[in-house]
Amino acid sequence: MYDLLIIGSGPAGLGAAIYGVRAGLNLAVIDRSPISGGQVLTTYEVDNYLGLPGISGSDMSERFREHADKLGVPFLMAEVESVEDCGEKKLVHTDEGDYEANAVILATGATHAMLGVEGEMKLAGMGVSYCATCDGAFFRGRTVAVIGGGDVAVEDAIFLAGLCKKVYLVHRREALRAAESLQRKLRSMANIEIVWNSEVTQIQGEDMVEAIVVYNNQTKESHSLDVMGVFIAVGVIPNTEMFKGFVNMDEKGYILADETCTTSVPGIFAAGDIRKKALRQIITAVADGANAVNSVQSYLI
Ligand code: NAP
Repeated sequence: MYDLLIIGSGPAGLGAAIYGVRAGLNLAVIDRSPISGGQVLTTYEVDNYLGLPGISGSDMSERFREHADKLGVPFLMAEVESVEDCGEKKLVHTDEGDYEANAVILATGATHAMLGVEGEMKLAGMGVSYCATCDGAFFRGRTVAVIGGGDVAVEDAIFLAGLCKKVYLVHRREALRAAESLQRKLRSMANIEIVWNSEVTQIQGEDMVEAIVVYNNQTKESHSLDVMGVFIAVGVIPNTEMFKGFVNMDEKGYILADETCTTSVPGIFAAGDIRKKALRQIITAVADGANAVNSVQSYLI
């Protein structure tokens, strides 16, 4: 029986873990992967985390995990299937069996969204990718497209521009959502062409991606772009499927909790990208972890 179980070992989960052990809680972190970091792991470079300018996502993940290991945070490897509220006791059901705790912090993060166009599923892994840092090297010297206008799309385009001959950034509007600092860097890369007001309607190719069909929603015309790779960065969806019906969520599946991370179920807290909030960043995820532990302490008292 633990005081606290933390589900997920991204920035929110690890942030909670270090605050929790330092507060003397008997806790464990459950994750399905032995490698911590969540979405940070597949981020090329992080330049907006205080004190660590320009750190790579993999280095940052490693440093977060090292910090937790140094403080003796115990990790359990298991896939969480559901959480059950039995009053003072919470049961975490996993593929490795059940774990009991007085409180649980849900910190399962988010996963990339799909574009939902013809050819996407068929060519996934054959030129269609959701992770530029993982797959970018396969496209060295080639022409690729990145779809989206947020931080991830722009970061991906910048990263790929360093490897590829040409990068199209296809965005459905004429203003990017990404941070201004990223946009400045993007504009400085000569081999990136932004394709504004354009929606990808089809990804073409037999065994490998050969082209994308792009519909310009202003001119109402379609044309195709010859590319060998398509990097889809159209946002994220929260990993909250297993908590549906257990805690209150909004229509997109984000858990309703304020900055105290308190959910609709007493003793269950939500931290990081799974929580409905205005700004999803690494620093706000880590902050959620600390706030969630503060709330756990009050709850346990
Ligand atoms: P995002 O900010 O939600 O941006 C998604 C982009 O995809 C938007 O530009 C959106 O267009 C576009 N899009 C959505 N659905 C689409 C569709 N069906 N077809 C075409 N385009 C579509 O997502 P993200 O870039 O993945 O970032 C996720 C979160 O992580 C954000 O909160 C971001 O700030 C955060 N993040 C933080 C850091 C950091 O801290 N350094 C780094 C990366 C990401 P519209 O603009 O028209 O809506």
